[in-house]
Amino acid sequence: MVSAVFENGNATFTNLLQHTSFRSTLQSIYQYQPQLNVMEKYWAAWYTYMNNDILATGLLFFLLHEFMYFFRCLPWFIIDQIPYFRRWKLQPTKIPSNKEQFYCLKSVLLSHFLVEAIPIWTFHPMCEKIGIVIEVPFPNWTTILMEVSLFFVLEDIWHYWLHRLFHYSVFYKYIHKQHHRYAAPFGLVAEYAHPIETMSLGFGTVGMPILYVLYTGKLHLFTLCVWITLRLFQAIDAHSGYDFPWSLNKFIPFWAGAEHHDLHHHYFIGNYASSFRWWDYYMDTEAGPEAKLEREERMKRRAVSKMKMKVQ
Ligand SMILES: [Zn+2]
Ligand SMILES: [Zn+2]
Repeated sequence: MVSAVFENGNATFTNLLQHTSFRSTLQSIYQYQPQLNVMEKYWAAWYTYMNNDILATGLLFFLLHEFMYFFRCLPWFIIDQIPYFRRWKLQPTKIPSNKEQFYCLKSVLLSHFLVEAIPIWTFHPMCEKIGIVIEVPFPNWTTILMEVSLFFVLEDIWHYWLHRLFHYSVFYKYIHKQHHRYAAPFGLVAEYAHPIETMSLGFGTVGMPILYVLYTGKLHLFTLCVWITLRLFQAIDAHSGYDFPWSLNKFIPFWAGAEHHDLHHHYFIGNYASSFRWWDYYMDTEAGPEAKLEREERMKRRAVSKMKMKVQ
């Protein structure tokens, strides 16, 4: 089987590049494909060295997910140990204990291996069928940026409505309650959820790019890697429990961030969206006492103006 990483690649060319170790494969890519950028060289070396695209994609996604998840959670775990940072903790009296964090870690790891490993391993054959490509060179950065931005908007729609549904009676009781075990969340909580929730909310992350490629006919797997990494960072940061003066929501006012999602965990109601604030704003589902007060004021104003209309 010849890897599809080179668009016009053939067996002879792949054999020329392939070596017994990843390092020497990479060296030969450097020699014969100097026009590629560093990321593209590593990408091509990985697929050439593995010589099995299904295994290469499956392993790449699994390792990317594990590495990025724990790489992003680790700084939050360290910050929780340092009292200096408490001034920016959204619920400063609720510092997660190491025991709690360890319990969460065990559960998340189990879910990664049991629930998420299966779709990851069957991903490549589906990619090939629907037009997700692995070839080098990658698309240009503007295309990647536009596609990733679109996925953020689409995932947010999916997340808002499904998450809101998960707060209705039986859905909450049997599925979503698990994620709400922590009223003061921390980074690792991002993927602490019932398997049904992981799969269905996860559709927003994986399914939206699939719908996109079904419509447009082309998407690069590298774009998907960038998107999944950024989406992981967004979810972990939203659960971090910290709102810094340099947090992203201070520069992009419609970005949700930890401040938005922490209120959801604290009050169990409102702020259902993942990345942006606009759905909760327009649907009047913002969480917290301030939002409640504003809502009540608005209702009062509406009632008074109705009364006035009647009198006239
Ligand atoms: Zn919830
Ligand atoms: Zn949450």
